[in-house]
Amino acid sequence: MIIKNVRILGGDPVDLRLHDGLIAEIGPGLTGAGETVDGGGAVALPGLVDLHTHLREPGREDAETVQTGTQSAARGGYTAVHAMANTSPVADTAGVVEQVWRLGREHGHCDVQPVGAVTVGLEGRQLAELGAMADSAARVRVFSDDGKCVSDAVLMRRALEYVKAFDGVVAQHAQEPRLTEGAQMNEGVVSGRLGLTGWPAVAEEAIIARDCLLAAHVGSRLHVCHVSTAGSVEIIRWAKSKGWNVTAEVTPHHLLLTDDLVEDSPVGAYNPIYKVNPPLRTRADVEALRAALADGTIDVVATDHAPHPVEDKETEWSAAAMGMVGLETALSVVQEAMVDTGLLDWAGVADRMSAAPARIGRLPGHGQPLEVGAPANLTLYDPSGRTPVDPAAFASKSRNTPYEGMTLPGRVVATFLRGRATVLEGKLT
Ligand SMILES: [Zn+2]
Repeated sequence: MIIKNVRILGGDPVDLRLHDGLIAEIGPGLTGAGETVDGGGAVALPGLVDLHTHLREPGREDAETVQTGTQSAARGGYTAVHAMANTSPVADTAGVVEQVWRLGREHGHCDVQPVGAVTVGLEGRQLAELGAMADSAARVRVFSDDGKCVSDAVLMRRALEYVKAFDGVVAQHAQEPRLTEGAQMNEGVVSGRLGLTGWPAVAEEAIIARDCLLAAHVGSRLHVCHVSTAGSVEIIRWAKSKGWNVTAEVTPHHLLLTDDLVEDSPVGAYNPIYKVNPPLRTRADVEALRAALADGTIDVVATDHAPHPVEDKETEWSAAAMGMVGLETALSVVQEAMVDTGLLDWAGVADRMSAAPARIGRLPGHGQPLEVGAPANLTLYDPSGRTPVDPAAFASKSRNTPYEGMTLPGRVVATFLRGRATVLEGKLT
């Protein structure tokens, strides 16, 4: 296959020849036998890699399945996703992670790398079979109780020690449970005005500080999920300055949206579409997160794609589920927050959304530069134009997007997984 007229990382137009799942040739004026795709001058990026996706299967197939979730990922330009462990049953054994891994291989819209639970049943009492999951066919390297915090310091220490044996990483959902009991939104001026129980920044920052110290103490790798506050950024910056092995991610929604939306938004007040964990924070937090992503303090953009069926979201605020879908809008949101603001160029986007997450997740074959001989995992993205977000067009089974009623720039034109198109002209193949 030949892809005509694409701009690698936004550079000069070239053509690509894909053969046997690899990039076989790069240059102007390529011709030859086989299918030809017109890239139309799109930006070519290495296929995106998500460190934090909820695929919901097994157990909540009414919200998402491996099939629909990976279709959603492909439409968003992703060639690999890490599937979080908070399924039912929980992915806390070799059997469950292999089941998720096999479903990913069968559906094939993108690679599915299961994340293993840190504790049995996400209950925070007893370590799960981390070694068995690492040794399984799914070769798990990322472990997380995401959705819940590993709040017990001794268990967290043991997990960090254990994963060293197979170069694993513990990805922490940093939320001090006692400080966030009944929390409904960011603790601040808006929560005070609305009378909703607040989720204070310190509940995130205290756990991150503790875990950075623990990771340094045992010489292990820590990854911090969905960083949401300016204070967290300062702590991570400090830990990195010490040379500690700490990485961090930020979600697209925390780079763009603020807690004011709970009070006043295009879809009204108290709309649970904005209810998410960790919560949307303040403008000052958003600015700090953008700066941290730009300077590398935060390594990765991860979606925290969290599909929920209508009945779990279209209810009163206090009863609604927390979370937003994000795979199909992530690149557009990053363009809006980071590229159009001059904070990141396309090389920076490729690093934060492909190379860095593949490196942290120890995912071979992904996140590599678009060079001759590299796996043909790539995304073609047209950054021109703005369109209204249309949840009805999502491939995801769920529609809980916070961008309804807004416009976003750009669109994913095509996605290729090992040389095979999973998306062409914006549509699933
Ligand atoms: Zn989480």
